[in-house]
Amino acid sequence: MTDRQVWAEICKWINRLRLNDWGIAWKRIDAEEVEPGVAAKWEGNSDYHQATIILAVKVEDYLIRSRIRHETLHIALDELAEVFRHAEGALAPGERAILHSMWMAAEERTVSRLCRAFEHAERIAPDGIDVV
Ligand SMILES: [Zn+2]
Repeated sequence: MTDRQVWAEICKWINRLRLNDWGIAWKRIDAEEVEPGVAAKWEGNSDYHQATIILAVKVEDYLIRSRIRHETLHIALDELAEVFRHAEGALAPGERAILHSMWMAAEERTVSRLCRAFEHAERIAPDGIDVV
């Protein structure tokens, strides 16, 4: 996938998820820079709605598309995560660690479920899920 195609795919998900109030950029990394088990991630500042999607792109196009969908869904869920991060501060350190790992696992499962649902919807109606 060219950089232009990657950006077009990111823009598609920005629009589908209505993330237009976020400033989103992306950064290409080489596969060898990726942490084991992590082919993409996002970093950012929730307060300012700024995010950078970091992608290993020396892989098949469908994987790049899947990773973009996955990371933009994480950004879409960040508003919920922000509520949790706020509440987390009121917890005792032991509880905080446990709830933090529970939150992270639940968010990952939710993103994966939504990814599969969007992937299925794209297969049966490639243009249909853009309907407002
Ligand atoms: Zn994830």
